[in-house]
Amino acid sequence: TAKNRGPGLVEVFDEAASHRSLDRLALRSELSHAVERDQLRLRYQPIVNLATSEILGFEALLRWHHPVRGVVPPDDFIPLAEETGAIIGIGDWVLAQACRQLAVWQRLPGRSRLGMNVNLSATQLQQPGVAVHTLGVIKDAGVSPGDICLEITEHSSIRTDVTEFATTLRGAGVNFALDDFGISYSNLSHLKRLPVGTLKIDRLFVDGMTAKDTDLGIVRAILAIADSIGLAVVAEGIETAEQRAALLALGCERGQGYLLGPPLSDEEATALLLGAGRRSVPARH
Ligand code: C2E
Ligand code: MG
Ligand code: MG
Ligand code: MG
Repeated sequence: TAKNRGPGLVEVFDEAASHRSLDRLALRSELSHAVERDQLRLRYQPIVNLATSEILGFEALLRWHHPVRGVVPPDDFIPLAEETGAIIGIGDWVLAQACRQLAVWQRLPGRSRLGMNVNLSATQLQQPGVAVHTLGVIKDAGVSPGDICLEITEHSSIRTDVTEFATTLRGAGVNFALDDFGISYSNLSHLKRLPVGTLKIDRLFVDGMTAKDTDLGIVRAILAIADSIGLAVVAEGIETAEQRAALLALGCERGQGYLLGPPLSDEEATALLLGAGRRSVPARH
């Protein structure tokens, strides 16, 4: 225990712990105002055809532009937003913003079929009336439900029964992807229960597939499952040309990752869609 390590350390430990909880308290309350204070921004990461590099759509990725802390990544605040319920308002903002941006991009020449992927968390799915509400947000933005893909993690589909939500929205044309596939539970019964059309292979496996036979085998197995039940696959976290080639060799057609494009600001993504910025890949955010 800390006590055995001497009195000085006890103090240090306690101070650090109370500092952390104060920090969380402050973050909690600041988070509840993030939408109204206009501190949230979306980044858009291209999802591409691996063989042709054609941009099929984007995944909307949330950033919190905190006045003091700078840009806070989603893994640092979404769990907190889920705890406090702030994720409901934040999630609504994300979906509306991503759909409005898609509507703008679909009016660019040759881009009418562009899609948008939006991440949902379990807490959002627990709200009464969420299916009708979600469809309303999509329609209000002026995009067709068929151009939207909602990403649900295996983790949240365990925590919540999302079957009804997903089935209702699927009936209206909305697409679903199982995100981070393979890392948490890999419970294949999800594939039976949920009307998902796409599996997203977690970047953990993509990262290891060119060095480790196990990871290569796992990617191959996921592709085989997807193929035999008629699901599309998107590989996440492609960082090297070698990974892209290995995925293509296994028959994986779509992917995203820093090699193909980092999460971009709306201006950068617009430039990319207009054919500018092809030569210089913008820096990551
Ligand atoms: P995710 O949905 O699996 O998103 C992919 C994450 O991988 C993103 O991290 C992305 O920036 C990162 N990434 C993309 N390509 C590469 C690559 O080549 N290498 C590496 N190392 N990483 C890559 P990000 O933006 O930090 O988001 C983290 C997670 O936060 C997301 O994982 C998603 O689960 C969650 N998230 C993001 N935006 C939202 C949102 O609007 N709502 C909810 N509920 N969750 C969100
Ligand atoms: Mg995702
Ligand atoms: Mg993922
Ligand atoms: Mg993830």
